[in-house]
Amino acid sequence: MARPNTLTPATISAADSTLVYRIEDNLYVNLTDRCTLACQFCPKHNGCTEVKGYELELGQRPDAEKIIGLIGDPKNYNAIVFCGYGEPTLRLKVLLEIAHWIKANGGNTRINTDGLGNLVNKRNILPELGECIDALSISLNAQNEEIYNRHCVPALSGAYDAMLDFVEQAPHYITDVSASAINGLQGVDIDACRQLSEQRGVKFRQRELDVVG
Ligand code: SF4
Repeated sequence: MARPNTLTPATISAADSTLVYRIEDNLYVNLTDRCTLACQFCPKHNGCTEVKGYELELGQRPDAEKIIGLIGDPKNYNAIVFCGYGEPTLRLKVLLEIAHWIKANGGNTRINTDGLGNLVNKRNILPELGECIDALSISLNAQNEEIYNRHCVPALSGAYDAMLDFVEQAPHYITDVSASAINGLQGVDIDACRQLSEQRGVKFRQRELDVVG
């Protein structure tokens, strides 16, 4: 695959800002609009295709070369964050290709994930992520399966336990791991979510309802 020889700051057109978009010092990458959850608090499931002023509905899913061309020099950003309008680990091969390129060119990488990458890919993907991902932010979302299923509506059975196992395994491969839950969602006990996270050796981040990012 062709790669740019020199890294120049990329100019990102309005059309391309669906694929990569800047929030503060980070560049966000939107690899897919698919995921196996249907979170009731997700913009996608509330008729909204825009996040922080960026239109995120994908016409087609981008390949690695397209995203790499749009990133330009990854050192221009605090981190390149795989996030977007769906679950990045559903496109694991493309994600890994881009992340390895970012690391080879001096950048930092983070994934914002639902923590179901092992369940969906039917194997432990953390060793592969550990080779090229600096930080993971995992949506824990609830202190038990009942509340999780109510808010996140997983398509796959066993999602909650698989997510918790992912949270527990992640620090063995990646040093900077945090889990999050949203304050203000009915039935969500933030303190219990914090405890579940800390018991598994990861930091906890409290998010607020209707605040994206
Ligand atoms: S996992 Fe993320 S993208 Fe998928 S429905 Fe939930 S909030 Fe939306």
